[in-house]
Amino acid sequence: MTKITKEILEDIIIISNFATKFNFKTMSNITFTMVKPEAVEAKNAGAILNRIENAGFRIVALKKVHLSASRAAEFYAVHKERPFYQELIDYMSSGPIMAAILEKENAVSDFRKLIGATNPENAEPGTIRADFAESMAKNAVHGSDSDENAQIEADFHFSVDERF
Ligand code: UDP
Ligand code: MG
Repeated sequence: MTKITKEILEDIIIISNFATKFNFKTMSNITFTMVKPEAVEAKNAGAILNRIENAGFRIVALKKVHLSASRAAEFYAVHKERPFYQELIDYMSSGPIMAAILEKENAVSDFRKLIGATNPENAEPGTIRADFAESMAKNAVHGSDSDENAQIEADFHFSVDERF
């Protein structure tokens, strides 16, 4: 049996720290989006995905899915105390969405910039919401608000073998 010397232990710590940093870097490079039901219904999904790719995001995973009310409620559970929660669940389960994982440096913040403010009236010109949203509720797209939530939301919709 090889005796674990101080030198070997130090090497193990260096490798382990590297692995953690690498993993963290990978995590922080993704965000999660949904093209919401009214935008899919209006056949804007292709145009929206085109803008996303043109802005430098890589599509890691993509699917069209009709969420049940209970799946929508689970996804938006963070908003359960907000007055618009029930309306949001009804709307998000009213028709199919396009769910996607996107990769880019600073994915979360760059994607929030690309989509614009929650209320399309406040969204910068040229943003996805400014151009495609119907209203504050029907605002065309979802975008994760943090690296941690991007990871949770991606895992909610996609298994590991659905990511490329
Ligand atoms: N929403 C709504 N009324 C509001 C605020 C939000 O209907 O007053 C909906 C809207 O579809 C929004 C979603 O709930 O995209 C989630 O709200 P959040 O504050 O997280 O906005 P987002 O992160 O999507 O910009
Ligand atoms: Mg949000």
